[in-house]
Amino acid sequence: MITIRAHAKINLSLDIIGKRQDGYHDLRSVMQSVRLYDEITLHPQKEISVRCDLRFLPCDNHNIAWKAARLFMDEIGTKDGIGIQIKKHIPVGGGLGGGSADAASVLMGLNRLYGFPIPFSRLLELGLACGADVPFCMTGGTCLAEGLGEILSPLSPLPHCHILLLRPRFPLSTKKIFSLVNVKQIKHHPDTKGLINALQNRDTEGVLVRLFNCLEDFVSRPEIKEYKKLLLDEGAKAALMTGSGSVVYGIFTSMDKANAAKERFTAMGLRPCLTAPVSTIF
Ligand code: ATP
Repeated sequence: MITIRAHAKINLSLDIIGKRQDGYHDLRSVMQSVRLYDEITLHPQKEISVRCDLRFLPCDNHNIAWKAARLFMDEIGTKDGIGIQIKKHIPVGGGLGGGSADAASVLMGLNRLYGFPIPFSRLLELGLACGADVPFCMTGGTCLAEGLGEILSPLSPLPHCHILLLRPRFPLSTKKIFSLVNVKQIKHHPDTKGLINALQNRDTEGVLVRLFNCLEDFVSRPEIKEYKKLLLDEGAKAALMTGSGSVVYGIFTSMDKANAAKERFTAMGLRPCLTAPVSTIF
């Protein structure tokens, strides 16, 4: 039996380059792993099964962790099963890649349990078959993700900072938000090259002024802008929606300001979560 962490991600930038023949979009995104994680426990048994502490999540083959286990077992050609227990801490439908992280950890954990039968390059392909963000969730740190999200280039780490997550009361469906995207309507694109250079030069200011997410314009809920303003008013140096939302994050360079903002948001009845970037996840 093993227990492993499944780390969430945030998008420091998210650009949509175009729509592909297959209906998916070509992306260019700078992604960052954060300390927040789900806990995944794997224990050998006859069938593949999932148990999760969040009752509304599917525990059958609709759970992405179940799909990851099926792909792994088929790849190594075994009829073995595995019990997967998921303790969720990552908000669902938040754009934090929670499901992707769970699938990534199942693949990495099973590969460890079975003595590394699958090379990492092939494991990444199995990850992509589960979901576009899974390869990043297996790689972690700071990366440029292109294509569907599977073409990954490691980048210099985000300088040390405090990340305050604010979760609106509603989840957003990635599929639905992407279905609203009209590439021709995108007026502003992130300065991805400038962001990468700023990361390389450890220029925190240069990074923060370049945080930008194209998808924000396609989310009509006013809470996104409201939460960004709340974070900035409380001293965040920058604020952005992550992925396809609904979570909005603020980056603080002062721990005291981040803690004060967290307290204030809690008193307002919001549900803040204070986290930080991580560079190694497995
Ligand atoms: P992303 O940022 O990768 O687009 P997200 O953070 O917006 O994803 P998730 O929390 O990963 O969204 O999950 C979205 C959907 O996936 C939910 O509707 C949920 O029912 C389904 N799902 C399947 N398996 C899981 C899992 N293990 N954890 C969370 N959601 C899961």
